[in-house]
Amino acid sequence: MNEETEYRKNWGLSKEDIEFRNEAKRFVSDQISPVADKIEENDDFELIREIYKKMGKNNLLSLPFKRYYKGWLKDPGVINSTLLAEEVCRVSAAPGIAFGASMFIGKALYTGGSDYILENFLKPITTGEKLGSICITEPTVGSDVANMKTHAKLVGNEWVINGKKRFITNAGESELNLIYCVTDSNLIAKRKHMSAIVVENSAPGFSTKQYKYMGRRGFRNGEIILDNVRVPKENLVGNQGDGHKILMTQFNTERTTIAGQCIGIATGAFEEAKDFAKKREQFGSIIAKKQGIYFKIAEMATKLDAARLLCYRVAKMIDEKLPPRSLMREAAMAKMYASETGKEIVDSSLQILGGEGWTKFGHGTNYHVERYYRDIRIHTIGGGTTTMQKYIIASKELEMQLDL
Ligand SMILES: Cc1cc2nc3c(=O)[nH]c(=O)nc-3n(C[C@H](O)[C@H](O)[C@H](O)COP(=O)(O)OP(=O)(O)OC[C@H]3O[C@@H](n4cnc5c(N)ncnc54)[C@H](O)[C@@H]3O)c2cc1C
Repeated sequence: MNEETEYRKNWGLSKEDIEFRNEAKRFVSDQISPVADKIEENDDFELIREIYKKMGKNNLLSLPFKRYYKGWLKDPGVINSTLLAEEVCRVSAAPGIAFGASMFIGKALYTGGSDYILENFLKPITTGEKLGSICITEPTVGSDVANMKTHAKLVGNEWVINGKKRFITNAGESELNLIYCVTDSNLIAKRKHMSAIVVENSAPGFSTKQYKYMGRRGFRNGEIILDNVRVPKENLVGNQGDGHKILMTQFNTERTTIAGQCIGIATGAFEEAKDFAKKREQFGSIIAKKQGIYFKIAEMATKLDAARLLCYRVAKMIDEKLPPRSLMREAAMAKMYASETGKEIVDSSLQILGGEGWTKFGHGTNYHVERYYRDIRIHTIGGGTTTMQKYIIASKELEMQLDL
């Protein structure tokens, strides 16, 4: 890509952001590209853990948490962790998702946490010593988050927590788990019934069970079971009843980062499709010259740029510290658009590669579109389904409470 196109692709980013993107690219090419196929082939979490630790050492896990950032950026923020997510997922989605979950719990802790929470739980995430999970979803509660059943009761100086979470990214591997739970069911109408409490994986009564999935091989996800788990009362993030507020702040960052992950996966597939189209000849010339193919390329490039603009806009707004409630619309738009069009772009890329697109590692040509196709599929579901993002956007546009 020439300099001019590169400049346009990065429009809206500062010089520092673009330099940071180059640093992220270098990290990915040195540390992730050489092992990406091994992660996929061997479903290898240990390689992901190593990458995660190196991210910590290279100041890449503290980007949204200025208090702990020791790198060269003057003003690090969510824009940088989003660019990093994009660059990592362009090459391998699984480590991108694992570090994403740590960023989401980090954001929740940073928003509402006391010094005790920050020093004991956020700091070891930023150095890569500990991995995090965010625990919202339950067997009977997916989109309907406010209806969660996991509950915590203050007994003496401890929270006693009971319940079951499912679909939790990093379950079984994460040392730190942010459990969203009900602490006063009488306050549901005021949205003050939920709280967020940190539970370490070493707590008695804490156990996990892992699931298997169609994509992102190497990543871990599953159930977290809380059976009379007791944690110190200081593990409460913010005040009792702050769960909804913390969740909203976390969701803005999560949806922005997921948009970045989708842009990364779609870009990876798009680059391979362009490469293939310029090499593959049919009917006497390369297929890139056929209108049926270059129309697709034009549409994919435009959608990718549009997704980037939506994604960087909200990341910048988060870094400007605009009120979280006022950013739900922009975060939902970025997540919905990047995941839905990302899915289309990967599908079109596979179509351009023809049979080669459906093979693993492109029969020795080393294309990965088959993997991108499986990896991107979850993104219209996790972090809130497309339907839920439409609900948020429409409620803001119509300025009214809509039916669910
Ligand atoms: C790989 C993966 C990773 C995940 N990581 C995490 C994690 O780390 N932490 C965590 O807490 N959760 C996680 N999740 C859970 C994820 O956020 C949920 O799957 C998602 O919010 C949807 O919930 P659900 O699957 O229970 O679907 P449901 O809410 O049961 O929805 C099923 C379908 O019904 C639709 N629907 C629901 N309500 C309505 C309505 N009112 N009107 C119209 N349609 C509706 C939905 O859009 C969807 O299509 C993960 C999930 C997966 C698969």
